[in-house]
Amino acid sequence: MSRAPLRIATLAGDGIGPEVTHSAVAALRTVCDRYDIPLEIEALPYGAAWYLATGQAMPSGEPQRLMRSFDALLLGALGDPRIRDHEHVRQIRHSLFVQLDLYANLRPAQQLLPALSPLASVQAGRARVDIAVISENLEGFHPDRDRRVRVTDDEDAHVTEEWHTPHLVSRLIRFAFAWARLRGRRRVTLVDKTNLVPAHRLWRHAFHTVAVDYPDIAHDVRLVDTVAHDLVRAPERLDVLVTTNLFGEILSDLTAGLVGGLGLAASANMHPGRCSLFEPVHGSAPDLVGTGRANPLAAIRAASLLLDTCGHRAAAAMVDAAVMASLNAQVTTPDLGGRATTGAVTDYVVRHLRTSHLLPDQV
Ligand code: ATP
Repeated sequence: MSRAPLRIATLAGDGIGPEVTHSAVAALRTVCDRYDIPLEIEALPYGAAWYLATGQAMPSGEPQRLMRSFDALLLGALGDPRIRDHEHVRQIRHSLFVQLDLYANLRPAQQLLPALSPLASVQAGRARVDIAVISENLEGFHPDRDRRVRVTDDEDAHVTEEWHTPHLVSRLIRFAFAWARLRGRRRVTLVDKTNLVPAHRLWRHAFHTVAVDYPDIAHDVRLVDTVAHDLVRAPERLDVLVTTNLFGEILSDLTAGLVGGLGLAASANMHPGRCSLFEPVHGSAPDLVGTGRANPLAAIRAASLLLDTCGHRAAAAMVDAAVMASLNAQVTTPDLGGRATTGAVTDYVVRHLRTSHLLPDQV
């Protein structure tokens, strides 16, 4: 039976973005070939160079075209020191997130090799890390909601507002419970700071209301400071965390650090059933461009998340196994303690994908 094509647009972007996107696409092409998944890829030109040449982040109407034409977007990295305040990054991300309504940010942190964790408890096998941070992508702290307020004759206070809308908060929390159920996870924890931020009470109300519909999943509510503490002292107690955009950004870097760092961390910006955007958590890392030291595994893991989300779970599992094999064989870039180049890691993963046994479709 012939399969529907998987239609992907890649946005390689800036810095190491093109290098790691090249690796992710090589992995995708190989695994799709093995599983007879017809793959259609369009490379998008947006990023710093395009912005500097045209004065625009992307053409108007482009997000709608992408939503209509593709199953998923794969982004490399955005960020360029030539552009003040990374204005193009803000515009590209904002228009894609808002127009595609990518309201949920998912960042899974799975411990692949205990030796990659800085925690002695994990290295010694006393603790395990398998944590998903799910955070709000469309509101919360937002750079657009920034203003100055005159407080004395010669001084302005700088005010950044935090916005939370009940139906958007409920939608995100429902996403977190639904994702937890689909993945067989046992607990969802709401992370907030209700004792300092009154607006977070709204999250608690929504959380308890939604939790009633998921009696099979345990739930609890924690302050962000205690969660930060437990992430280091007892990470095995935490499972799925649902939280605001600001706390999500901070905690997901911490969880990434617990399992091997930015070189392995992938992220999905999602709206279930629609074209979603997948990317490595790291930025454009201008210091690494062209050195062969950029770790491609985060982008390859983003490709695995993409496959998994688009219903190709066996193909995703095969990519994960290839990543695992490269870690086990210590074919890794220097950030993970290895001596391999970006290209050598990619070649290893691709070779593994070409030669490993096919997994059954229902993994
Ligand atoms: P941006 O402004 O685009 O976020 P940045 O350099 O400030 O760029 P990151 O790109 O996230 O932030 O990188 C922070 C540091 O982490 C880099 O300087 C680099 O040394 C390291 N790093 C990031 N990504 C990778 C990677 N894929 N492989 C190896 N090291 C990485």
